[in-house]
Amino acid sequence: MEAVINIGDDASDNRPGVELTERLPGLRTTVGRHPHSAGEPTDAAERRELRQLASHPSVVAVGEIGLDYHFTDYHRVPKADQQQVFRQMLGLAQELQKPVVLHTRDAFPDLLAILDEFPGLEGVFHCFSGNSAFAAEALARGFYISFAGTVTYPTAHGVIGAASIIPLDHMLVETDSPFLPPQSRRGKPNAPRYLVETVARIAALRGTTEIEVGRATARNATTLFRLNHAGP
Ligand SMILES: [Zn+2]
Repeated sequence: MEAVINIGDDASDNRPGVELTERLPGLRTTVGRHPHSAGEPTDAAERRELRQLASHPSVVAVGEIGLDYHFTDYHRVPKADQQQVFRQMLGLAQELQKPVVLHTRDAFPDLLAILDEFPGLEGVFHCFSGNSAFAAEALARGFYISFAGTVTYPTAHGVIGAASIIPLDHMLVETDSPFLPPQSRRGKPNAPRYLVETVARIAALRGTTEIEVGRATARNATTLFRLNHAGP
């Protein structure tokens, strides 16, 4: 293992994530405002703080940001509020020239339409939950697609289809831990060490080796997040 990227997604973990990178060599982080926490609009002071945090050399991307229209008792942020915060965060990424980590659920067409307002951005669709057609839209924009434990679930047909055919040079893997454990750990907390099961499943789907999938996804992460350059 060469590097770890922590994920920030609201005011409670953006700054602690940056502070952690100052204590742990090899750790990078992201800074963002997740659609689940897009309910209150960002004021000028918060936007200043986000810009200052996201400018830190250990911050390799702006994210998680995006749109989530999968409404539950836990998440009911109106679409318009999510879209406003998403546009602010894409603007920040464009200004700082950092890639974005996109979270999207049941909102793919709206997400693509807003993304197209910000040409030149790079990034990744994290915990990809779409199918091959959605993957083609992401790839057409030069984006990477990241697979989590869901690709090991026997009924995740769309995700399995996409993981089988997208070019290896635009694929990433991730844990999303403690969520989305691979099939053998369903119902239990996930942890980064179980990522090997996700990689093994992708390799089997593609008729290749775990080594090849591991090498390619490590290389892609290094390129996208500029891991050879970032860091304090
Ligand atoms: Zn997410």
